Amino acid sequence: MASAAKTVWFLRHSQPVFSRQFKRFQSSEVRQGFLGTVGNTPLIHLKKISENTGCTILAKAEFLNSGGSVKDRAALFLIKDAQEKGLIGPGGTVVEGTAGNTGIGLAHMCLALGYKCVIYMPNNQSQEKIDALTTLGADVRPVPVAPFTDPNNYNHQARRFAESINNAVWTNQFDNTANRRAHIETTGPEIWRQTDGKVDAVTFGTGTGGTLAGVSMYLKDRNPKIKAILADPEGSVLYNWIKHGKLEREGTGSITEGIGQGRVTDNLKGADIDDAVHVTDKLAVEMTFRLLHEEGFFVGASSGLNVSAAVQVAQMLGPGHTIVTCLCDTGQRYYAKLFSRSVLESRGVLESIPEQYRSSLHD
Ligand code: PMP
Repeated sequence: MASAAKTVWFLRHSQPVFSRQFKRFQSSEVRQGFLGTVGNTPLIHLKKISENTGCTILAKAEFLNSGGSVKDRAALFLIKDAQEKGLIGPGGTVVEGTAGNTGIGLAHMCLALGYKCVIYMPNNQSQEKIDALTTLGADVRPVPVAPFTDPNNYNHQARRFAESINNAVWTNQFDNTANRRAHIETTGPEIWRQTDGKVDAVTFGTGTGGTLAGVSMYLKDRNPKIKAILADPEGSVLYNWIKHGKLEREGTGSITEGIGQGRVTDNLKGADIDDAVHVTDKLAVEMTFRLLHEEGFFVGASSGLNVSAAVQVAQMLGPGHTIVTCLCDTGQRYYAKLFSRSVLESRGVLESIPEQYRSSLHD
């Protein structure tokens, strides 16, 4: 073919190819950048763990969000909220107090959007989360553990720092209800769609309360009979708050990171929570290892706690019900602590792990 004829042929034939490709990139199958990779996680039937309960236990695979946890959803909505309210401009700084996962979600998004990220966190959280935050370019500031009533609590330090510099926003995941809106607008509708509305109860551990409040608000709006049950670890006050209306701690601290609370956050206020279950560290850790060895999921202890709570809820409701919970993040985030024989022994929970599953432990 002569070269002019080649050009004519190319223009005639390539046009539809280009426009077809362009349409494909616009399709809902293509995610738009990092922010587009948050949500739409699979709902998993945990078959073996469901077996003895006579119920169907389903778990949202939140560790599959691109930042690796359920908190990516909150991070996305907190940033969008700050942008919509004009609280942050180009090149600005996002400041947050976090057990780590919200910070990791925010740090990813700050890189994608050209913001700086400053993270205050209590100094008893896993090294893996600190390392991830540092790798993501966040300025990580671990601070001594202090209750919310103490001005040195990590959240207050985050707020004060944001107030002290220009073009910075404190995203305030605990009391900014943009957090639970993420679950009203995404997690709740996904669960409704994925179960065809056939869900009897949801149960989630609570850090900010965003997941539990948001999911239950959406689902109860569709069907008020759906039960919302709070799953609470040792050292938290929320179990007694739901059961007896008192903010009294049940047990001391927990090995589980990211959940448990000493107060009723704004994200939790106004949510219609039907009941609460208390999950000991022994049960949470045992279930974390069962999820690994019986179902193949390498997840953190809050996921173990959630699924252990779902088993308790199944026993409360009786056979034939469908209970939804979530696998919040990956076990890699806790490798040094949660999979260490000596740490588990010192916390008195080693014995709760079935002997045949202890091959996963390191010293
Ligand atoms: N699991 C993990 C590992 C978390 O980090 C968090 C949040 N800190 C939660 C569960 C609870 O999520 P929420 O803040 O929506 O209550």
